[in-house]
Amino acid sequence: QTADLAESPQTNDKQVPINYPELVQQSRDAFNSGKTRPLEWRIKQIKQLMRMLTENSSEIVAALASDLHRCKFETFALEIDYTIQEIKYMLMNIKEWSATEKPPKSLANFFDGVEIRKDPYGVVLVMGAWNYPVQLNLLPMMGAIAAGNCVIVKPSEIATATAKYLYETIPKYLDTDCCRVIMGGVSETTELLKQRFDYIFYTGSSTIGKIVRKAANEFLTPVTLELGGKSPVYIDNTVDMAMAAKRILWGKCVNVGQTCIAPDYMLCTPEVQSKFIEEAKKILQEWYGDNPRENPDLARIITDKHYQRLVNYINDKTKIAIGGDVNPAEKFISPTILTDVKSTDSIMQEEIFGPILPIINVNNAYEAINFINSREKPLALYIFSKDKETLSLIINNTSSGSVVANDVILHAAVETLPFGGVGYSGMGAYHGKFTFDTFTHKKGCLIRNYNKVAEILAKSRFPPYSDENLKILRRLLERRPSLP
Ligand code: NAD
Repeated sequence: QTADLAESPQTNDKQVPINYPELVQQSRDAFNSGKTRPLEWRIKQIKQLMRMLTENSSEIVAALASDLHRCKFETFALEIDYTIQEIKYMLMNIKEWSATEKPPKSLANFFDGVEIRKDPYGVVLVMGAWNYPVQLNLLPMMGAIAAGNCVIVKPSEIATATAKYLYETIPKYLDTDCCRVIMGGVSETTELLKQRFDYIFYTGSSTIGKIVRKAANEFLTPVTLELGGKSPVYIDNTVDMAMAAKRILWGKCVNVGQTCIAPDYMLCTPEVQSKFIEEAKKILQEWYGDNPRENPDLARIITDKHYQRLVNYINDKTKIAIGGDVNPAEKFISPTILTDVKSTDSIMQEEIFGPILPIINVNNAYEAINFINSREKPLALYIFSKDKETLSLIINNTSSGSVVANDVILHAAVETLPFGGVGYSGMGAYHGKFTFDTFTHKKGCLIRNYNKVAEILAKSRFPPYSDENLKILRRLLERRPSLP
């Protein structure tokens, strides 16, 4: 049982050390028992996960309010409802996605079975980040189960209340032999990563992503790394500014910017910048009033360390065009826009992950492309323009995990799109079918038989070799591609 093995560093009265090798071995034994393979078992677990979310929604809202001072609306929209939608989509499609595929075959395999079987990997480790701690743990967990794996989930210790909720609640709903949750911080995770897993799915920073990949390499364990980075916005003078500014600011203010795909910084001309600031003042006033700190819709920064890091970005008051109110006791930072920002400023050196939007001036889309391409590949790239050529120009000449034109963040809710990074923003992707595929090994199976006719055709491969047999073999294997 999970509860006997795990410990909580947050409620650490009686430290029961986790026996990591034993923990993983128990999961491996459970996987080897074959329990996770039947589709019925998988569907039952996934439905239980959905039940857990619906029956415990008020506990989840309370946990997020405790961790991030997050409001009910955002917790429902971006965690509970969002995860339930993905679960429903999985349930609608799991039968089809898990079915054996029969790809087209050549003449040489006319009498054979050519199949792609969907195999689970075995024991999967999921490590989620703290900023959306429900969906970032439960979606990969659901995917691992859907594909027939055993799974061990390690939520981030930083979102303390949500981690505790997951640790205490998941065993009440899911099969505890196959689906385990453990708690722990850096030292526990370091020990955990010394174990051999069959797949690791990590969400978090690029720095820790490297540690995870290095650990996985020890056993050649495949990984998905859902990382972060600076997601740029380019905006030109063709847009409907009232609409565009609302969309960009929502992306920066939701969860107070602690979103991996939050618009990080903005590139535009000085003229567009003036129009944007003018609109932004109106919008932020309309949303949060004169005293944003009193407004219930704004969350707080997760830790003092992150708060201090963010406050340091806004020390230079001359660059603050809007906002800049802070409160250390509450870890509150009001939505803030900085102008006249230089690419060498400290705020442009790392992912912001807070409600501060720096604007950098460029003269045109070409300069924006050069700016973006001179930095690490972003997780998301946002382009605001009514001009289709500008959209194509930027999409075709940059590399990013995803692109959204004329909005932000919403691509994460399109379940038919892969969600993931490229380069320093990550490797691999999930959501929708990509979640199922991530945790599935596609096993190529060639099923031959003892058909006599087939053997006459294929015997040309056997010695004694001859030019005549080579000709027959070539004809059998010949492909007729339509060349471009
Ligand atoms: P993090 O990397 O600090 O922590 C995530 C996990 O790593 C936690 O489980 C933590 O215990 C563990 N960890 C921390 N230090 C470790 C160490 N030294 N050795 C081993 N494990 C360690 O990330 P974070 O601060 O929790 O999350 C913020 C980052 O995650 C941002 O960069 C954000 O963009 C990114 N993110 C990405 C996505 C995505 O889907 N691509 C989603 C959310 C967040």
